[in-house]
Amino acid sequence: MNPIVGDIPTLSPPRASNLRDRIAPIIKGDVLDDIATIKKYSRDTSIFERSPAVVVFPKDAEDVSSLVRFVHDLARAGERASIAPRSAGTDMTGGPLTDSISLVFTKYMNHMLDVGPGYAIAEPGVYYRDFERETLARSGSLLPSYPASRQLCAIGGIVANNAGGELTLRYGKTDRYVRELEVVLSDGSRAVLKPLNADELSQKQEQGDFEGEIYRKVHTLVAENADAIGSARPTVTKNSAGYALWDVLDKERGTFDLTKLITGSQGTLAIITKANLATVKTKAHRAMLVVFLTDIQILPDIVHRVLTCDPESFESYDDQTFKLAVRFIPQIIAQFGVLQMLKLAFAFLPEMWLVATGVVPKLVLMAEFAEDSADEALEHARDARASIAGFAVRTKIAKTETQAAKYWTIRRESFSLLRKNMHGLYAAPFIDDIVVHPDNYPQFLPELNALLREHHLLYTIAGHIGDANFHIIPLMNLANEEARREILELAPKVYRLAAKYKGSITGEHNDGIVRTPYLSIMYGENICTLFAEVKKIFDPLNILNPGKKVGGTIRDIETSMIRNRT
Ligand SMILES: Cc1cc2nc3c(=O)[nH]c(=O)nc-3n(C[C@H](O)[C@H](O)[C@H](O)COP(=O)(O)OP(=O)(O)OC[C@H]3O[C@@H](n4cnc5c(N)ncnc54)[C@H](O)[C@@H]3O)c2cc1C
Repeated sequence: MNPIVGDIPTLSPPRASNLRDRIAPIIKGDVLDDIATIKKYSRDTSIFERSPAVVVFPKDAEDVSSLVRFVHDLARAGERASIAPRSAGTDMTGGPLTDSISLVFTKYMNHMLDVGPGYAIAEPGVYYRDFERETLARSGSLLPSYPASRQLCAIGGIVANNAGGELTLRYGKTDRYVRELEVVLSDGSRAVLKPLNADELSQKQEQGDFEGEIYRKVHTLVAENADAIGSARPTVTKNSAGYALWDVLDKERGTFDLTKLITGSQGTLAIITKANLATVKTKAHRAMLVVFLTDIQILPDIVHRVLTCDPESFESYDDQTFKLAVRFIPQIIAQFGVLQMLKLAFAFLPEMWLVATGVVPKLVLMAEFAEDSADEALEHARDARASIAGFAVRTKIAKTETQAAKYWTIRRESFSLLRKNMHGLYAAPFIDDIVVHPDNYPQFLPELNALLREHHLLYTIAGHIGDANFHIIPLMNLANEEARREILELAPKVYRLAAKYKGSITGEHNDGIVRTPYLSIMYGENICTLFAEVKKIFDPLNILNPGKKVGGTIRDIETSMIRNRT
């Protein structure tokens, strides 16, 4: 179902041609359509591939504005073109993929603009690794919603996906840290979005321009559908599915905040050209409780008890991930300096022994406690260990960050390892990010396992166990039609299961091509119609990343799936 298509003529307008020659004169940055560039930007880390017609590297926000104005005018003249913003391209959903214009920020729009106490202002193309280096050096703080891809991804994608990660358990997701966004709207105009009080909102609504119209229409939509929107809010701790309509109006603070819609909107409502983000000082000392679990039945109890001890993060990985990591230890440790390499190699000896003797735990849980002193952190880890005494589990306390490093390395590297090493098989994220409330584990997990068994898949599970957010990554040969059909069969079953427990079909990775057609499973048709209305308010000509969040079809999934491994 595609609610927005109802307003668009069924006969597609002709696709705009010769885009490079028409865009180059209006852009200071680069406009390329050579084969190597097209190939490079035809993939992200999802199961999809789409070749852009042209790739644009803007120099500044004015370039972005010129490009959007150009595409807006094309669409009004009846030619079909659209823009998919792209930061580092590590998206797992096909979010930045397009067959039209790929707008890439990492080449030029990659400047840190300001760092102060508790905030940092950056262009969308700043890699997170550079952002964090600067914020730590200049304010001793960081953006705690960084994803596991922290070494690879960039600020634009972090905001546009509403990313979360290992610290989300304590600190929440990116939406909590967005103070202000500078954006280009779908008519090419520029706007600054931030929380507004009642007076500021009235002033905005009085504006006679497109921004004013957006404020008027979104305000009406949110007010008229307040009850439906309120009850659609997912009850889980993390959610990136759909548009966060329930967060726009904050009755307690008396604010109206459109950044709540842009954050997590995957470039479908506006293009972010500058982000002002809050940063926090995390605690200085850490100790980790590692739990080796062989009996999955006791998982819910273990999770519950450990959570009461307030870990900063609570992560996990399964036996398949464990075995994979041991198999590729040389590759993992090769990324580090010689000293760290030797330390890690030595630290991994017990894991190698476990694999050699066939006694691999079903699940490894890592609960890390962060406090102001090393003693306090250790005390919390010990309390957590005491809270699960009596259960049939092996535990270990890593007292220092060096001792915890190998567990973090396995957890953080798991998806990259799968992507690099499984020749002939593709790490296929399509049920990669479901979330349910931990209370539902006892019913949910057996049902999930039964579904996965039915499909005889080879898969790994890692994830944010404290947030009940599971990253299930099957390994598949996408060249095989059977495998592609399996994806289409299994995905809705898993999403229905997550919906049955009032969970989310995506906690952090977002919708993209892979989940947009299934949003109605989670939210129902009424809320999806509201999403389509939001899209139409912000982007009436459907030129910003069409088919993501609204209007995506199962056919899009079928036709965009990668067919070969190269
Ligand atoms: C190994 C690995 C681990 C991962 N772990 C996590 C995790 O723990 N948590 C998590 O949330 N995600 C995770 N991801 C997914 C992804 O890395 C993150 O969501 C990341 O924040 C995306 O950033 P990016 O710069 O690569 O974005 P891109 O892939 O470039 O884009 C992501 C989306 O944002 C849109 N976008 C990009 N720039 C802009 C802009 N300027 N304006 C508007 N829209 C824009 C794109 O169109 C796209 O829809 C992981 C991916 C990998 C490969």
